[in-house]
Amino acid sequence: MLENIVGHAADVLKSKSAWLFISDLDQISFRCEICFGENGGIVDRTLPFGVGVVGEIANNAPGLIINDYSERPTTGKFFEPENINALMGVPVLCEGKLRGVLLVGRESEETPYTPSEMELLELFAGQVGTALESEILLDDERYRRDVLEAIHRASLQLTSSLELQPVLDAILNQALALIEADDAHIFLFEGERLSFGSARWSDERKTEPFSEPREGGITYTVALTGERIVSSDVDQHPLFKDWQWGGAIASFPLRIGDQVVGVMNIAFEEPHLFDDGELRVLELFAVQAAIALQNARKFQESERRLAELSALQQVAKVILSRLEMQALLDEIVNQVWQVLGYEIVEIYLVEGHILRLRAAHGSGVEPDHTMELSTGIIGRVARTNTPAFVLDVSQDPDYVVGFPRSRSEIVVPLSKGDIVIGAINVESPEVGGLDEADLRLLILLADQILVAIENATLYDRLRKHSSDLEQTVQDRTAELATALEQARSAGRIKTQFVADVSHELRTPLANIRLYLELLNFGNPARAQEYLDTLTRETDRLVSLIEDLLAISRFDTGTSMPKFQAENLNLIAQGLIEDRQRLLAERSLEVEIEIDDDLPDVRMDEKMITQAVSHILTNAMQYTRPGGVITITTDTRKSDGGDWALLTIIDTGIGIPPEEQGRVFERFYRGKASRLLSVPGTGLGLAITKEILDRHSGRVTLESEADSGSRFSIWLPIDTSVSN
Ligand code: ADP
Repeated sequence: MLENIVGHAADVLKSKSAWLFISDLDQISFRCEICFGENGGIVDRTLPFGVGVVGEIANNAPGLIINDYSERPTTGKFFEPENINALMGVPVLCEGKLRGVLLVGRESEETPYTPSEMELLELFAGQVGTALESEILLDDERYRRDVLEAIHRASLQLTSSLELQPVLDAILNQALALIEADDAHIFLFEGERLSFGSARWSDERKTEPFSEPREGGITYTVALTGERIVSSDVDQHPLFKDWQWGGAIASFPLRIGDQVVGVMNIAFEEPHLFDDGELRVLELFAVQAAIALQNARKFQESERRLAELSALQQVAKVILSRLEMQALLDEIVNQVWQVLGYEIVEIYLVEGHILRLRAAHGSGVEPDHTMELSTGIIGRVARTNTPAFVLDVSQDPDYVVGFPRSRSEIVVPLSKGDIVIGAINVESPEVGGLDEADLRLLILLADQILVAIENATLYDRLRKHSSDLEQTVQDRTAELATALEQARSAGRIKTQFVADVSHELRTPLANIRLYLELLNFGNPARAQEYLDTLTRETDRLVSLIEDLLAISRFDTGTSMPKFQAENLNLIAQGLIEDRQRLLAERSLEVEIEIDDDLPDVRMDEKMITQAVSHILTNAMQYTRPGGVITITTDTRKSDGGDWALLTIIDTGIGIPPEEQGRVFERFYRGKASRLLSVPGTGLGLAITKEILDRHSGRVTLESEADSGSRFSIWLPIDTSVSN
C-alpha cells in the first residue's frame, strides 16, 4: 500500500523519483522504506535522525521545496540523489508524531515545484500516516490481513482520485463488505448542517434505505458532540428517531483536528452486538473518510487557486503587454470581465480630490464619471488604502447606488506604499455573490495592475519626451538650415556686392580718367563739356560712397535720427524743385497732390529726405520718357494709429510679384535694373527701409508689371507734435 501511495505521489506530481523514509519509534534513525524511479540503490539505507536534507524536511512543517538542489554542495554521505534538480519533501505524521519523510524529485530540465504542489504532496503524506496508524491500531491478527487489504483497496481509491464521491463510496463499500452490515452512510457536516455524502447498502437488505438524519437524532448528536454512539438495538436508544426500522447502529464522527466534518453510520437491520475488533476497524474507516474529506477540500481549494492563478497569469500577461494608458485600462476591465468572470468591473483613478471612472464594464455608469474622494465605498477604500469586501451593499452606510441591481461588492485600492492612485471595483447582483477567494484574487491582481499602470505612465512620459525631443531636433535643424541659407546668401551677396561696387567705382573712375586726358589732349573748344562730365561722374562716385557709408553707419549704430517736428509736404515740394531740371531732361511729367492739412510729424528731416529721394530717383530711372510721376501726401488710419503718408507713383516698368518682397534687401537688384541698364548698387531701398525703421514707420510697395509702381512711406502722427 505504501508503495502504491508513493508511486501515485510521483505520478500526480510529475516527478521522476519519490522516496519514503520512515523513522523508528524511538526516533534514532530514518530508513529508506520505498524508492520509486531511479536511485533505487538506496532502499533500506539508514540515516541518523535529523541529518541531511531528510532531517531538514523532518524539522520543517509543512515541508520544504529546494528548487536548486543540484547546486547544493555534496557531502558524500547518506542521501544525495543524482540527476535531481528540484526536490520537495514533507514530514509524515502518525498520531500527531513525526514518523517519516515523503520526498519527490525532478530532473534538471523540468519545472520547479510550487507551494500548491506541496499541498498535494501533503495529502499523500497524510495517507502514509493513516496507513502507519492502521498498523498500530490493529493488533488483532484475525483482522489484520483483511482489514489492511480493505483499507488498501479504499486507499487505492483515495490515491487515484482526488474527487470526493468515488472515495467515500469506496470506503463505505469496503467497510460494508468487511463488517457485513446492511447499511452505510456518510454525511457531511458544515455550518451546523448535515448533508448527504454517500450511501451504500447490502444486496440482502429488505427495508427502505435511510434518507435524512433528523435534528436531535443519533447522527446529529454525534456531529454536534464529536463522540461516537454505538447501539446494538436502536429501539432501546433514547435518541433514536432516524430510522423507520429497528436494528443496530454505530455512528462515528469524522474529524479533522478538533473539527467534526462529517458522520459515518454503519447499520444492521436486526439488532447486532458490535465487538471491539469491528469498532476498531470502523474507527479506521472513519479516519480514512475524514482524510478523504480533508483531501477533497484541500484539492478543491488548490484546484481553485491554481485556476485563479492561471487566470491571473493570463490577465497579467495581457495587461503587461499594453503600454498606452487608456488602452491598458480598457484591457484590464475587459480581461477581468472575460477571464475572471465578474459581471461589473470598474477602474477609478485618483485626480486630486476626486475619483474619475477611467474604464468600466457592465455598470452602465457614464464614462469619465467623477465622484468626491470623501464619498462612497470606493472613496473610503481610496482614502484608507484598505480593501472593502461588502457582502450586502444595503448594509454598508457608505454605499452610494451606482448600479441598481448590485448586491455585493469588492473594492481594492491600487496603491504603492501609502500612495493610492486609484481602485478596482467589482460588483455582483447577488448578496454574497463574491467571496474571500475573489477578494484574495483581486488583491493579487491589483499589484499587477499597478505595475502595468506604472509602465504605461513611464511609457507615456517617454513617448512625450521623445516627441518633444523630435520637435526640438526638427526646430533646430530648420533654424540651422535657415541660418546656413542666410550665411550662403550673405556670402553670395557679399561677392556680388564686391563685384557691383568695383564695377560701379570703375565706371566713373574710368570716365574721370578719360575726360582728364581729354582736358589735356582733346579739343580745347570742348573743355566745358569735358568738365561737366567730370563733375557728373564725380557726383556719381560721391553718391555711391555715401550710400555705402550710410549703410555701414546703420550697421555700426552710429547713425541715430535727430527728431524734430517736420512736414512731409515740405520734403515732397523741396525734392520736386531740386529735380525739376532732371525730370524735364528725361521728358517725365510730374504731378503733385498735397494734403494741405497734413500735420507735422517727428522725423530726422535729412534722413527722410534721403529715403524719399531714393524712391524718387528710382521712379525717374525706371520710368521711360513720356511717363508720369505723381507725388501725394495724405493721412491714414491703420493699426489703431494715425499716419502721415508720402506716396510716389510712377508709370514705369513695374516690379514683378516675385521681386516685390526682395527689393528692400541690401544689394538686391531686380530685372528692371538690367533691362534699362540703370546704374546702382541695390542699396537705395534698403537704406530707405532702415531709415523708416528708425522712425517707427514703414515703407510699402504696390506694383504691377508694366503699369508702374507705387511706393509709400508711413510716419506715425504723434499727437503731441501735431497739436
Ligand atoms: P538700385 O536702384 O540701385 O538697383 P534699389 O534698392 O533702389 O537699388 O532698388 C532695388 C531694385 O528694385 C531695383 O534694382 C529695381 O529692380 C527695383 N525697383 C526699385 N524701384 C523701382 C521702380 N520705381 N520701378 C521698377 N523697379 C524698381
